[in-house]
Amino acid sequence: MARFSEKKISVPHGKIKMRVCNTHLFRPRRAICGAFYLHDILGSMQKTVEIDGVDVPYTIRSNSKSKKISIRVQEGGQISITKPTRVSVRYIENLVETKKIWITEQIKTLKNRPKKLLSHYSAKDFDKYKDEAYNLVDARISHFNKFYKYDIERVTIRNQSTRWGSCSRRKNLNFNYKIVLLPSELQDYIIVHELCHLAQMNHGKKFWDLVSLQIPDYKDRVLELKKY
Ligand SMILES: [Zn+2]
Repeated sequence: MARFSEKKISVPHGKIKMRVCNTHLFRPRRAICGAFYLHDILGSMQKTVEIDGVDVPYTIRSNSKSKKISIRVQEGGQISITKPTRVSVRYIENLVETKKIWITEQIKTLKNRPKKLLSHYSAKDFDKYKDEAYNLVDARISHFNKFYKYDIERVTIRNQSTRWGSCSRRKNLNFNYKIVLLPSELQDYIIVHELCHLAQMNHGKKFWDLVSLQIPDYKDRVLELKKY
């Protein structure tokens, strides 16, 4: 999922064409050309827009290849605007005034978006959930292993930020404590996945055939799990 919001705005034809011509070199039109050339030389320029009484900074960049104006609000609240070279800074300033509501909404939405559950790491939460996780995993392994009937050496609950589970050659199954925070169909998928590694230590066709015996829609669950 993208960590920013972006809006593309078409440049109305004719209206704001920069008056770039041979004569401007000798008689610059200060109102627009001054700022226009300065920031084109510098590559970008900083401006601010007043939103709810706060001066919110934003960056304007010119790109000779841009056909449209793009307003991008990033997760950290940074706002950057890319404009075709021919569009004036004054035009962008006026445009930003009219897009304040959209900008405010994007900042709020991006700020409130939860971080991915898997990458979240907390010793406190681990203590809080590890027993519950163990009981859940133990119960679901018993359920599915009535079907698979594999030998299991040991089941361990871990605090990890990169994986939901793993299986070792010694037949030890490890699960992330955060499994308790997932919907039950994803918990079951993770458990069956690791269980099947006891028979197939790879992700080959035979492995997925085994998984599908208990989780026929495993492909949907793999996709769903990526959201967490
Ligand atoms: Zn696997």
